[in-house]
Amino acid sequence: MRFASDNAGPVHPAVMDALVQANQGWALPYGNEDITERACARVRDVFEAPEAAVYFVATGTAANALALATLTRPFDAIFCTPEAHIEEDECNAPEFYTGGAKLTLVDSHHGLMRADALTSAIGKLGSLHGPQPGAVSITQVTERGTLYTLDQIAELARIAHNANMPLHLDGARFANACSVLGCTAAEMSWKAGVDAVSFGGTKNGLMGVEAVILFNPEKAWQFELRRKRGGHLFSKKRFLAAQMDAYLTDGLWLDMAAQANAAAAKLTAGLKQIDRVRFDHAPQANMLYVSFPRADHQRLHNDGAQYDCKGTLDGPPDEMIGARLVCDWSMPDHLIQQFLDHFDG
Ligand SMILES: *Cc1c(COP(=O)(O)O)cnc(C)c1O
Repeated sequence: MRFASDNAGPVHPAVMDALVQANQGWALPYGNEDITERACARVRDVFEAPEAAVYFVATGTAANALALATLTRPFDAIFCTPEAHIEEDECNAPEFYTGGAKLTLVDSHHGLMRADALTSAIGKLGSLHGPQPGAVSITQVTERGTLYTLDQIAELARIAHNANMPLHLDGARFANACSVLGCTAAEMSWKAGVDAVSFGGTKNGLMGVEAVILFNPEKAWQFELRRKRGGHLFSKKRFLAAQMDAYLTDGLWLDMAAQANAAAAKLTAGLKQIDRVRFDHAPQANMLYVSFPRADHQRLHNDGAQYDCKGTLDGPPDEMIGARLVCDWSMPDHLIQQFLDHFDG
């Protein structure tokens, strides 16, 4: 029962095939070959952004840190939520890559940045003595499994832009969000005012690629220098590009996201039938936050269930303990059923 993370899922066979294809013979290094050119063109195509600068890196942390470093100066503030991946899960990579820009926390509600809180946080800037306006960074799907509507993204973008700041979107689960909202990649990014996207692939069936998309290519060269200096310019770029190329061919990215979301919807429906399961956030994509008694955790744990458990297994059996359950594109029905069956005891 593998609900630990969507990056625990396998690589899609079509992506493996593309890697094997890419391995035919020689190709110039550092992206000076056809596959990289084609994959970048596909990203621009899918995002309806012919002018955008597109780069491939191997981790989401690198994508976020390099994008934010390109958008900000060392004495700037980067606004994000307390549960943002850049705040909680990147070992200060954004601060490191920016050379000192300061993550500044803005109140959230179920993982969603609050517009009023952003406005008041921005209102505190401006003095010579404090940080300067740098960037706003939000995450879609949020770190709590919830989604911004397009209007909510547009509102945060307006607030950011009014303060002369770009809006960065951490899209580690961009495809899952697009699939649920039924919108285009363009609608969920530049059309809503987003200036830069970390476009995830690894959590949705790739071996390890995220794209950074800068809709305004003005700072492209700066990005390239930072990427090289940060050790993220891959010489065998064709193997990153081949994955992204396959991902964006025939809508594979959206198909896999729809599968992951459907699996999570089934798990949600099943857990809603169980009285002692509490939903801590309303799941909207492929990630659930629920709480249930320790006794259930113990039973699941003894049968080898893998998921992020928010407490210890020792203690009173009826104490409620949180869990994060994530479905990847390959999650089969029988594992969901197996998980649910543990609540029959
Ligand atoms: C997984 C994830 C990332 C990227 O993590 P890496 O381990 O660096 O690839 C970035 N943002 C969010 C919200 C994530 O869930």
